[in-house]
Amino acid sequence: MGLYHSTRSAADSVSSKVAIRTGIAPDGGLYVSDALGSEKLDVNALVGQGYHAIARAVLGLLLPDYTEDEIAACVDEAYTGTFAADEVTPVRMLGNAVSPVPTTAATGVLELFHGPTSAFKDVALQMLPRLMARAQASAGAGERIMIVTATSGDTGKAALAGFADAPGCGITVFYPEGKVSRVQELQMTTQEGSNVAVAAVRGNFDDAQSAVKRIFADRALARRLADAGVVLSSANSINVGRLVPQVVYYFAAYAQLVRAGKIACGDAVEFCVPTGNFGDVLAGYYAKLLGLPVAKLIVAADKNNVLFDFLTTGVYDRNRPFFTTTSPSMDILISSNLERMLYYLSGGDCELIARLMADLAETGRFEVAPELLAKIQEVFACGWADEDQVAAAIERCWETERYVIDPHTACGYHVLGQVAPAEGAAARVLLSTANPYKFPRAVLAALGHETPADDFACMRELERVTSTTAPVQLASLETARARFSDVVDVPAMGAYVEQAALK
Ligand SMILES: *Cc1c(COP(=O)(O)O)cnc(C)c1O
Repeated sequence: MGLYHSTRSAADSVSSKVAIRTGIAPDGGLYVSDALGSEKLDVNALVGQGYHAIARAVLGLLLPDYTEDEIAACVDEAYTGTFAADEVTPVRMLGNAVSPVPTTAATGVLELFHGPTSAFKDVALQMLPRLMARAQASAGAGERIMIVTATSGDTGKAALAGFADAPGCGITVFYPEGKVSRVQELQMTTQEGSNVAVAAVRGNFDDAQSAVKRIFADRALARRLADAGVVLSSANSINVGRLVPQVVYYFAAYAQLVRAGKIACGDAVEFCVPTGNFGDVLAGYYAKLLGLPVAKLIVAADKNNVLFDFLTTGVYDRNRPFFTTTSPSMDILISSNLERMLYYLSGGDCELIARLMADLAETGRFEVAPELLAKIQEVFACGWADEDQVAAAIERCWETERYVIDPHTACGYHVLGQVAPAEGAAARVLLSTANPYKFPRAVLAALGHETPADDFACMRELERVTSTTAPVQLASLETARARFSDVVDVPAMGAYVEQAALK
């Protein structure tokens, strides 16, 4: 039964297992399901449930060719003993001082960073390898999967942690040289495991991501790898198996708000999402389509505000300066998952999507019609923060809440204070995407303190001035041994993957 097809053509359909195993459609489009939203989840029933049960319900609906037992086993393996919080993704309520715009809506922070690598990517990347293992078993071909991933900083480590020593899988990670934090770099280069490869790329994230997409589309390479029994796949949020697990925490956050008496079941909630590749906020849109009462989804960008311009004017234009900011995981000018949003909001118009993406590839620019833009704006609001505003947001949150946030979360915190609450929103939830100790230098500076030359000294100083504790998996990097020091040019990435795959 075919369920997923490319955003750029509905001609061929595949099961969710094949979509997950292969990552991206052969024509370069992203896999989407036209069944999304035709069946709703029972929110009333879910609000009484814990994370595991909600995850089983969401995954069961969106990945229908997995058996109930397979889903239950995947959920158990991914979320038992891996997250340092009982709720997996706990909501922390803030005082109403959060908002320079007047609001009576309760405001909470959804902490997504309690997983093994301290970034929200863990929620999906603890799940993806389990889903992939079952998909591989069903394919029954005895093939090896090589995961190829470009990272702006956090996906790389979370994917390495998920796939290290996974049977039948290898993983190659590319990150932009000099454009991730020191802690992020060490997280990747110290990764243990016999099936992992890590390289810095001379270029920025968009260069690396575009090269990875070309590697997936390289037929000759695919043939050579197939001869050796290897297929390529992706752990980026272009993979359905990355996206679907992220839908779960929107429901889990809602359930926590109801149980805490902050909202009544049925009340609408607004979510503010720090955004780069549009994966996380797209998962919120999926949750809305599945019946979650979502008032508005607020897209929060950093100084690379290509999404803000698109959502306000309908013109997407990547021909602009690229800024390296204190929120590296949002330093992205080609936002891949926008393609899925455009697909759904255009009513499934594959021809339009193919044309827009061809425009983007050829000219770096595309434009949508006013009617489509209006539809998009009914669902998504937006804002962005420059570097001074990010630092000010970190400081304001600390001063008013005694709560330390990282620079990505701070973009959202700033935007939440700029965008008036949507009409009828009973609560506002800010998604917190990383632990502040991943970015100790930027956070310490924002709090107005001197920053020592060494990032681990910054970490200790941040502990001292805020009386909080760095996660042990970050503090212990100081003495960990780096295993990888490869640096490659963009054109050499394909050969690097081939070498790793044939090893
Ligand atoms: C990846 C990431 C983001 C952006 O998420 P997208 O799904 O790419 O929009 C934001 N913050 C942090 C810390 C991240 O790692």
